[in-house]
Parts: sequence; C-alpha cells; structure tokens
Amino acid sequence: MNPLRSLILAAADNDAVRRAVAGAPVSRDVVRRFVAGETTADAISATRALVADGLSVTLDHLGEDTRDRATAERTVGAYLELLDLLHAEGLARHAEVSVKLSAVGQALGEDAALTGASRICAAAEQCGTTVTLDMEDHTTTDSTLRVLAELRRTWPSVGAVLQAYLRRTGDDCLALAGPGSRVRLCKGAYAEPADVAFASPHEVDLNYVRCVNALLAGDGYPMFATHDPRLVEIVGERARWYGREPGTYEHQMLYGIRPVEQTRLAAQGHVVRVYVPYGRQWYGYLMRRLAERPANSAFFLRALATRS
Ligand SMILES: Cc1cc2nc3c(=O)[nH]c(=O)nc-3n(C[C@H](O)[C@H](O)[C@H](O)COP(=O)(O)OP(=O)(O)OC[C@H]3O[C@@H](n4cnc5c(N)ncnc54)[C@H](O)[C@@H]3O)c2cc1C
Repeated sequence: MNPLRSLILAAADNDAVRRAVAGAPVSRDVVRRFVAGETTADAISATRALVADGLSVTLDHLGEDTRDRATAERTVGAYLELLDLLHAEGLARHAEVSVKLSAVGQALGEDAALTGASRICAAAEQCGTTVTLDMEDHTTTDSTLRVLAELRRTWPSVGAVLQAYLRRTGDDCLALAGPGSRVRLCKGAYAEPADVAFASPHEVDLNYVRCVNALLAGDGYPMFATHDPRLVEIVGERARWYGREPGTYEHQMLYGIRPVEQTRLAAQGHVVRVYVPYGRQWYGYLMRRLAERPANSAFFLRALATRS
C-alpha cells in the first residue's frame, strides 16, 4: 500500500489528528467537495439536482463505529426521516439508502444491527425504495453477510457490497450472484492485513475483473462501484460479452468524483448511481477519500504540521 495512504488511514484513528483536521479552516472546502451537507434537507436538494441530471442516487447518513444505543437509535431515526422525505418529494424511485451496520450498533451485537437495519428496510419498502449494506473492514465481513442473509428473507432486494481487495471475494461473488441479488462491487477502502487482502493495486484490479465476470455471468443485479476508467471500460466490454443490456446492471461513483464521467455514462443510456454522503460525522469518510488520492491531501498535511 502507498505509504502516504497507510499514514492517512492510521492517522484517521487518532483523536488529536481528528481535532486538528476538523478544526483546520481549509477543511470545510474539502468537505464540501465530497459531502452533500450536514442536514436531511441538504441531502434532498443534492438528490434532486442529481436526479434532474439523469442520475440515480444512494444516500449515506454519515457515521460509523457507534458504541452506544442512543447513537444507534439516532442513526436509525435519521434514515427514517430521510426516507419519509424522499417519498414526500417523489424521489424514492431514483434514490435508495446505504447503511453501515457499525452505525446502527453492530459493535453492540449482531442482533442490535439486525434490529436497526430491519427498521430501515421496512421503512424503505413502504417508501418504495431499497437499502444497500455498505461493507466495512474485514473483521465485520462475516457478520455483515449474516445480517444481509437474514434481512433478505423479508426484503430480498437488500443490496450487498463486496470488496475486490479481499482474497475471499471471488467466492463471495459466486455465492451472491443468484437471481435478483443486488451486489455492489468496489475495490475496498480500509487498511487491511496482507493475509486477508491483496496488497498491490494490480492484484486488486485483476480480482475486480474476475469478480465482474462472476457477477455478470450470474442472474443478479451487479452494481460496479469504481471511478477507474480502465475498469469502467472493462465492465462495458464484459457486459456486452455476457449479453447484458443497460438496466440489468449499473455503474456507481461517489459524490464529487468524476461528475462529468457520471453524466456521460448516463447520457449513453447506462444506469449511474451516485453515492451521496451527508451529515455531521464526515471525518472517517473524508479520510478514506483522501487516502485514495494522497495528491489531494495537502490540507491534511498542513493540519498535521500546524499541530507540531
Ligand atoms: C458508490 C461507491 C460505494 C462504495 N462503497 C464502499 C463500501 O461499502 N465499502 C468500501 O470498503 N468501499 C466502498 N467504496 C470505496 C471503494 O472501495 C474505493 O475505495 C474507491 O471507490 C476508490 O477506488 P476506485 O475503484 O475508484 O479506484 P482508485 O484505485 O482509487 O482509482 C483508480 C483511478 O480512478 C480515477 N480516479 C479515482 N479517484 C478520482 C478522482 N477523485 N478524480 C478523478 N479521477 C479519479 C483515476 O484515474 C485513478 O487512477 C465505494 C465506492 C463507490 C464508488
């Protein structure tokens, strides 16, 4: 892994660094580039603008690593409020929600996460939309897939996320490529040990392509989450090879990253879904985005330097 990337991901867990970055005046501008805003109203207006451009949306209420029941409850409440508003504004057909189980209480026990996620899935169904469970670091993969399987017994449309950097993911793709199964494939955003994850970008890309093939060959609905121009092209080529029409799979990208490419693909008739994060807990999310492109991290290094 790029040493600056490892440094940023390691520093992301440090409280002093967190305070320095959150307080740095330049942070606001960087945050605005990647995060739709702090409130539900901000999330709705970003969604409305993207939908007007022919894009679909998945909304993430920022927050992770919830350690107490009150915070987990507030997170579930935020999603319920968001879903109500999406429905009221006529946006639910174009916008679903992405949920991190750690935000709804996975650390308090799998049952807590299942209960919280179930309430969000029930509300999403009532509002005419769906839920995708984000995937977090590898220590949570088995638990997240167990909760997914349980949720799908009632709500078969709940989406999974698989990370191409994990060595296990080829097998997970085969297991989750069944009829109707919505699976987002991404590279993976966490610092992982070499015994569970491929270390070199080349190996991750190769595994991504293997997984693209496995998902397109199956009967599910794959969602290819990457900004990588080469992989976007390979997805298009493999989709044609497997006889997949646009609409039987989709592209996904993050809010604020390659927006021109997002609208270009949509104009060609592809389904393109933009992952829109919002809320006050933007720190962990922002650090992962900066770690992916250390070239954009000058502000982060300045914040560190002014501390010392
Ligand atoms: C919709 C969506 C949902 C996600 N959900 C999860 C999740 O649940 N769990 C998880 O671990 N990770 C998730 N991720 C993050 C993902 O794992 C990667 O960390 C992230 O997408 C960066 O990988 P990449 O495929 O874009 O390629 P990278 O290897 O980061 O970049 C490859 C190439 O893409 C282009 N590119 C990348 N970023 C930019 C940029 N800012 N501007 C211009 N070009 C750029 C460049 O050409 C670059 O060389 C998600 C990503 C997306 C898009």
